[in-house]
Amino acid sequence: MTDLRVNTPPKPLYIDLHIHSTASDGSLSPREIIKAAEKVPLRAMAITDHDTIDGSAEALQHSKSTDVEILSGIEISADFESGAMHLLGYLFRLDDVRLGQVLEVVQKSRAERNLQIIQRLQDLGIDIDYDEVSEASGGGQVGRPHIAGVLVQRGVVQSIDEAFVTFLRKGGPAYVERYRLSPAEAIKTIRGAGGVAVLGHPSTLNTKTEAELDKIIAGLKGVGLQGVETYYPSHGPVRTALYERLARHHGLLVTGGSDFHGAAKSWVHIGFGSGDLRIPYRLVEDLKQTAGSGPDPVPHA
Ligand code: AMP
Ligand code: FE
Ligand code: FE
Ligand code: ZN
Repeated sequence: MTDLRVNTPPKPLYIDLHIHSTASDGSLSPREIIKAAEKVPLRAMAITDHDTIDGSAEALQHSKSTDVEILSGIEISADFESGAMHLLGYLFRLDDVRLGQVLEVVQKSRAERNLQIIQRLQDLGIDIDYDEVSEASGGGQVGRPHIAGVLVQRGVVQSIDEAFVTFLRKGGPAYVERYRLSPAEAIKTIRGAGGVAVLGHPSTLNTKTEAELDKIIAGLKGVGLQGVETYYPSHGPVRTALYERLARHHGLLVTGGSDFHGAAKSWVHIGFGSGDLRIPYRLVEDLKQTAGSGPDPVPHA
């Protein structure tokens, strides 16, 4: 008897919701990232560049010519004293006017800060100018990793990490603060554009106890947070379990991604992180359900 079932290949199982492109500090273009995702293969992906949606928009333009499902994405650095608080946004409208305005302000402050960092480095006797850094960035948002890259090229330091440790880290001799949105503003901006707001890699908040992290997450939920990035290369089983527990406890979604940057973080691979990351597609279904669940009133901060 002939088997009439059409022999379609099974859909890939895994996803990656945290990827950087050349629009910020990644080394691959959105097109190259899609190619890499097809190779894994991944079922879905989101480009989440620092403070810009350009990479995400470019990836979405290719969505008809790939089997990889592409979600809009962004990573916004929020103001947080004792560590790095990054808020991820997914499934927002790229053409949202308020989002565009907010990002413009943030990008302007970033550009000014970059010039001040270069000035500090020059004051420290280092021969570096902005044009080289801008060239290293390939035309996207310029960040400290690009400055670090030029310092390596120049032989001032041996590695990107050494550039951060010696000069660019928060509080380092060439560090300059920039304007950051408050966590509440970042969440409100993402949600105002119809997106889902997720706390990125809670590990970088540098909290010392579970109670401390629990309190921060509760506070963020109070201003509209909807998810926690749980699956992440450096989290390991213990922290992954902790973040998952806290997310469930607060009724928040769980998400995950590799934080792929390409050459700048060569040990991290799209989809699989440092090797053992496996993020199931059902998290995308959860995200879509939350995004589509209507305009939850975002409390005023
Ligand atoms: P910026 O957005 O310009 O403040 O730069 C922050 C970015 O620098 C982070 O998102 C990371 O991608 C990168 N970064 C921070 N610390 C380090 C480090 N020690 N080594 C390499 N990259 C780093
Ligand atoms: Fe980065
Ligand atoms: Fe981040
Ligand atoms: Zn990131």
